[in-house]
Amino acid sequence: MSEQAISLLQQVFGYPQFRGQQQAVIEQVLAGGDALVLMPTGGGKSLCYQIPSMIRPGVGVVVSPLIALMQDQVENLEQLGVAAACLNSSLTPAQASQVERRLLDGSLDLLYVAPERLLGERCLGLLDQVEISLFAIDEAHCVSQWGHDFRPEYRQLTLLHERWPQVPRIALTATADAPTRREIIERLNLDGAQQFVSSFDRPNIRYQVVYKNNARQQLLTFLRGHPGQAGIVYCLSRRKVEDTADWLAQQGITALPYHAGMAAEERAANQRRFLREDGVVMCATIAFGMGIDKPDVRFVAHLDLPKSMEGYYQETGRAGRDGDPADAWLCYGLGDVVTLSEMIARGEADEERKRIERRKLDALLGYCESVRCRRQTLLEYFGEEHTGNCGNCDNCLTPAQTWDATDASRKALSAVFRTGQRFGVAHLTDVLRAGDTERVRQFGHDQLGVYGIGADLDGDRWRSLFRQLVAHGLLEVDIDGYGGLRLTAAARPVLRGEQPVHLRLETGSRNRRSSAAGRPTVAAADLDGDQLRIFEALREWRRDSAREQGVPPYVIFHDSTLRAIAQRQPRDSSELASLPGIGAGKLERYGEAVLAVLAGTEAAASNAP
Ligand code: ADP
Ligand code: ZN
Repeated sequence: MSEQAISLLQQVFGYPQFRGQQQAVIEQVLAGGDALVLMPTGGGKSLCYQIPSMIRPGVGVVVSPLIALMQDQVENLEQLGVAAACLNSSLTPAQASQVERRLLDGSLDLLYVAPERLLGERCLGLLDQVEISLFAIDEAHCVSQWGHDFRPEYRQLTLLHERWPQVPRIALTATADAPTRREIIERLNLDGAQQFVSSFDRPNIRYQVVYKNNARQQLLTFLRGHPGQAGIVYCLSRRKVEDTADWLAQQGITALPYHAGMAAEERAANQRRFLREDGVVMCATIAFGMGIDKPDVRFVAHLDLPKSMEGYYQETGRAGRDGDPADAWLCYGLGDVVTLSEMIARGEADEERKRIERRKLDALLGYCESVRCRRQTLLEYFGEEHTGNCGNCDNCLTPAQTWDATDASRKALSAVFRTGQRFGVAHLTDVLRAGDTERVRQFGHDQLGVYGIGADLDGDRWRSLFRQLVAHGLLEVDIDGYGGLRLTAAARPVLRGEQPVHLRLETGSRNRRSSAAGRPTVAAADLDGDQLRIFEALREWRRDSAREQGVPPYVIFHDSTLRAIAQRQPRDSSELASLPGIGAGKLERYGEAVLAVLAGTEAAASNAP
């Protein structure tokens, strides 16, 4: 049974071996059992139901929440020569009835359906007439009310099991937290399902946090390290999305905006360009992302703080699905804390919910200020152990230095207290550093004992210190008092000199360092000059071919496959077939064209003077 699975993996998908738990999941489903699969983004969830759908008699019905997701999957499968189709509201009646015909005559291996469509009488009636190999419930966390992707129709999917008790079900999600997992099992009646929980580590993602001083310039420096690469820049507000996209475009970067306030056509057009062109930078609110299966997103940059660790993990997880190196870059400052605290306080949620949101924000602040391995902190938050020293986060690559800030913290806290607990960092810093400003004079703060007691440290150091005191919960932002800082109970032992404070020492160079430093641009890593030329020629061919077919380039071949071709330079189709990502379908479709590109570059090289 599993021999058939391996042969499909190699023949159709062109991959030499299964990854992680794929094989175990496939065996469970082939044996007719239910499965709950928790795998990070890019882990390879699709194969877990695609291969059993192809092996078991009948059609595999895949429930998917978004049209874009379905289309992507179907395009991918068609390229591989697998009989797949989707039923959703984007089809014309004629297209839909053609799909229905293919379903009824048994020629489909996979059918992707939107939940509301599936639960309609028409679709259920059709399915009654055919053999079903399995039900796959993709993005199963949509059943959970706590997640931000809640879809009420997902709750009714229990109906499938009642109607077709003998058909195995496989639910899949990349959402890592335990409460969501419990809700999936309960809501979908999956108590009897075998659980397959993978590590949620994304080893190819490099995590980095920098502290805001000139965010735009910092972003630009970061983007300069990713020339020609696709990425997402997340901003909190629609306004900022548009301003950032405009500004980046002025800097010569292909940047587009995306947020829920834009006209639907414009939004769709920008998304399309992001998927189909190489190297588009999408400036977006978190409205953008779910349903984006683009595998070669090389970076996710946060220009504002996400709301929680869950959000951060999910958003950064959109980078590097293809397994090639990718960057998660977060630029954060005290202003973010003020803004988010305000949003929580002024939001409509009840008090209990606000407390939860506040705690989630605090956990994220702890992550930002931590000097430990980012990966370790991140995974621990989701209940997974990690030994640290990942070697692929800023804290591991350039260990943070700390300094004894006990004395300075006392001075800072005293300044907050003596000025009446209602001023922000700029003014407090002026007071500490004996600044001669209008405000200082107006409030008579030059008369205070704390005036000038911090002249030994520069303004940057004080700003960093205040931010860290807030993040560590010694100070809090007074939302009703227009964002001034006030002491918390945790400040008292420090003020009394009973508790030492060690803080992260920020150095400009660390902040300025480009995250891409020390490694070549990803797509072309490990290629020498000759191979690089071939790689570029292949990319050009892929771009043209994608445009002709109206599909994204990555459904033709991933960068990693093009890289392998450029390195190995196969001379005939059997050598080509041995490379990863080239199954029989792709070989037949593109083999000749690829060999022609290789021959062309060779000819060009031998003609060169
Ligand atoms: P997920 O749905 O878990 O985010 P996908 O199913 O889209 O992940 O797979 C992520 C990428 O990994 C895809 O490009 C897929 O082709 C690739 N992939 C999946 N399984 C394997 C495997 N066994 N070997 C090599 N690549 C794989
Ligand atoms: Zn690390």
